[in-house]
Amino acid sequence: MTLLLFGDQLGPHFLTGHDEIVLVESAAALRRRPYHRQKLHLVLSGVRHLAAEFPDRVTLVRANTYGEAIRGLKGPVSAYQPGSAAAVRMLGDLGVKILPTNAFALSRDEFTAWAGNREKFLMEDFYHFQRARFDVLMEGSDPVGGRWNFDAENREPPPKRARLDVPAPWWPDEDDIDAEVRADLDAMDLPAVGRDGPRRFAITRAEALRALEVFVRDRLPHFGPHEDAVLTKDWTMAHSLLSVPLNHGLLHPLEVVYAAEDAYRGGAAPLRSVEGFVRQVLGWREYVWQLYWHLGPEDYRHRNGFRADAELPRWWSELKPGNVRAACLRTALEGVRDHGWVHHIQRLMVLGNHALQRGYDPAALNDWFVTSFVDGFPWVMPVNVIGMSQHADGGVIATKPYLSGGAYLNRMTDHCGSCWFDPKKRTGDRACPFTAGYWAWLDRHERQVSGNHRMVRAVQGLRRLADLDQVRAQEKEREIF
Ligand SMILES: Cc1cc2nc3c(=O)[nH]c(=O)nc-3n(C[C@H](O)[C@H](O)[C@H](O)COP(=O)(O)OP(=O)(O)OC[C@H]3O[C@@H](n4cnc5c(N)ncnc54)[C@H](O)[C@@H]3O)c2cc1C
Ligand code: SF4
Repeated sequence: MTLLLFGDQLGPHFLTGHDEIVLVESAAALRRRPYHRQKLHLVLSGVRHLAAEFPDRVTLVRANTYGEAIRGLKGPVSAYQPGSAAAVRMLGDLGVKILPTNAFALSRDEFTAWAGNREKFLMEDFYHFQRARFDVLMEGSDPVGGRWNFDAENREPPPKRARLDVPAPWWPDEDDIDAEVRADLDAMDLPAVGRDGPRRFAITRAEALRALEVFVRDRLPHFGPHEDAVLTKDWTMAHSLLSVPLNHGLLHPLEVVYAAEDAYRGGAAPLRSVEGFVRQVLGWREYVWQLYWHLGPEDYRHRNGFRADAELPRWWSELKPGNVRAACLRTALEGVRDHGWVHHIQRLMVLGNHALQRGYDPAALNDWFVTSFVDGFPWVMPVNVIGMSQHADGGVIATKPYLSGGAYLNRMTDHCGSCWFDPKKRTGDRACPFTAGYWAWLDRHERQVSGNHRMVRAVQGLRRLADLDQVRAQEKEREIF
């Protein structure tokens, strides 16, 4: 039986046991949405590298649509469960047999058994279950070091220097295949956004292994303490940059987690760093994949508890932040424009926070993250965007909205000192859009959030504001960010 692989199924765990493999380059899929130029590059580079590496087993079919390519194949076709409900539907319509995926540590069945009849989900519970299930950082039935969670030690503000004192990440060298991809993309006239640039992420198995090895050796020992901080001139900080090879299926999450655990057991990295990293890969990443399917992909993506319906402005959706004065927001959007990637706190506390405050339509925001980020895929976004960042699901995933004002951003980033706005001001020309936006959002949604015990202090603060009318009027009219 021919095995159809998608561009996010490129690692050995997908290839093993299959002799006739087909990859598809669909022209219609490339132009369906305004994808980031570097994301398109990674997708094409990934499939072409794999086809070149296994010429006897892998055939690359170029067609207008997937349907056209699949209908042209002889005999029955199977595929591993893809990463979106739309792709599952398409395969069903084309009569392709869907195999359970082996791309994640936990199977769907085991997750369903764990979830039982829960209606609210706590990542921490799932994470403990995963640690025990896969025997990671465990001593018998207890966590090593006597604690499951070292988050409290991993929330340091940024240091008073431009960059973290950590070794540089591993960077790929582009080859002839990349040159060919670049030339083809130039010729295709696609509705892409963002800037082209040197490829920054691993997209072959050999590159992915090298990126993992260098991260674990050089940077994992520094992962953690400044995880929640942002430095203007240090776009990678101590992050792993492994989301691209992980999400393209080039690395299996368990091999990544075990490599990190080995570093701890061998004395090469401290527990707080290793636990922090394991939590991301074995906890969060698995959790968002499982919940994508468990919560019903299409229904969950359209939840909109705060009835937010503002259109994404063009300077945002087209990645043209030239006129943005807010240093934190401009830096994050420039990062997406230049790399198709910014780190977690910029996604959550700058981009997501701004979108929440300004009432951007959550489903449109979800889709923007999918198309604009090099590691964006349909399965990864709803829990992160609809649930975590926009709290549009009414609290299924998080106990309170990730809403913050300029004071938080001033503490956790180095942006405010050079910003045109003043984080302490909530009215007037220089009023920080995050500070004023924070109060304006609370004011708009006071009734909805006042029953949430984690929001009580914020709501009490709102009721004490003497200049609320002014803030309300100013933010309604705000055009300058
Ligand atoms: C609004 C928003 C959008 C996001 N969009 C994406 C996305 O498109 N693709 C994506 O992979 N992650 C996404 N994340 C999660 C996280 O921000 C990225 O995984 C991380 O920034 C990728 O960089 P890294 O590989 O250096 O991660 P590190 O900080 O080094 O973390 C290690 C790994 O943990 C995993 N991970 C950590 N947190 C999450 C999470 N919340 N969800 C899923 N995986 C996680 C990733 O695989 C990541 O590579 C998003 C988070 C938010 C709040
Ligand atoms: S002052 Fe406000 S807008 Fe400017 S960087 Fe700080 S938080 Fe962002």
